[in-house]
Amino acid sequence: MTVRSISRGFIEIDLDGIARNAKMIGDVAGVPIVAMVKADGYGLGAIQVARKLEQLGEMVWGFGVATIDEAGELVDAGINGRILCFTPLLPEQLASAKKLGVRPSLHRPQDIALWKKLSGGPWHLAIDTGMSRAGIGWTEITSLAESVSDFPPEAVFTHFHSADLSDVSMSTQTERFEGAVRELGKLPGGSLRHLRNSAAVGRSIGAEEGAGDLARSGIALYGVHVSDQPDVENVVTMRAAVVDVRTIQQGETVGYEGTFTAQRESRIATVAAGYGDGYRRALSNRAAGLLGGKRVPVAGIVSMDMTTFDVTDTKCAVGDLVTLIGRDGDDEITVDEIARLGAISPYELLVGLKLRLPRVYKGGGEC
Ligand SMILES: *Cc1c(COP(=O)(O)O)cnc(C)c1O
Repeated sequence: MTVRSISRGFIEIDLDGIARNAKMIGDVAGVPIVAMVKADGYGLGAIQVARKLEQLGEMVWGFGVATIDEAGELVDAGINGRILCFTPLLPEQLASAKKLGVRPSLHRPQDIALWKKLSGGPWHLAIDTGMSRAGIGWTEITSLAESVSDFPPEAVFTHFHSADLSDVSMSTQTERFEGAVRELGKLPGGSLRHLRNSAAVGRSIGAEEGAGDLARSGIALYGVHVSDQPDVENVVTMRAAVVDVRTIQQGETVGYEGTFTAQRESRIATVAAGYGDGYRRALSNRAAGLLGGKRVPVAGIVSMDMTTFDVTDTKCAVGDLVTLIGRDGDDEITVDEIARLGAISPYELLVGLKLRLPRVYKGGGEC
């Protein structure tokens, strides 16, 4: 017999919200999107997200992953859409990519030759225009001219390093990309180009030149604003139960290192989630939760399994749920806000949410 306890907390993911975000990103981008679902859909569940977004038809051109295992998971789950793998694969992994029908990103002549020998399907040529991480350097592109004319890619692409920060680097990288593609010589008609990530879609600087035929979007799908546009919605709710409420006297401290000192007689609620659940330590004494629609500040250092809140001014009982991320009443704490308060990357915050709490899904049905 399996004994299942009533959950002490959960992460709820709004799949309808993700679908609405995808439509909005597609509208702003003006081209189909590649939905990035790497790292288990930024921690929110790659299979569930892909199943939902598959229903949007050709507006979602394909799904982006980082590894063969991630691609395999999508295939096993019955996802029929195109799957692109963006991290360079080791030569020995190309056979697995072929078996799974995955589109690899390639940039080395020997890998392109091997992919051809394996009778691999469509592949994408990665061009490095300043990220210095993967792809053929834009100044080295002629070294690929022969491989490419011999076995042309379905698409050529590059990746911006600072689309959320600087106009200049985006236009510089776009120029480098366009120049490299010109030097490559004639690509077959219908070859695609893709450059933009979420932030670049929002910025759309030099849109004519740099728009490309597809946009690769990850973080914006999951409701984080990396630029003014598109105006995506928060899709994550994180709630955990109050497991203890106590009164402490003025001058008493709360938590490790005693970083919170009660300025008056105070009520402290202990919630059963901490950084072991992805509610990061950087939020100590900085963030707030929502209880009965009211803000309650984090008091003291977030520990691994528990977080303490100052509930002196709010009604609170054991068993109440505190909303750490999401809406309660008229107020909402977004992933954006939590990341800002903790001065942490919203990407890291999201991927950390799958650590321990169960994930539940809203809107698994039709779009
Ligand atoms: C992860 C990734 C993206 C998505 O970036 P976001 O900022 O999340 O939109 C786009 N392109 C590549 C190559 C990536 O690895």
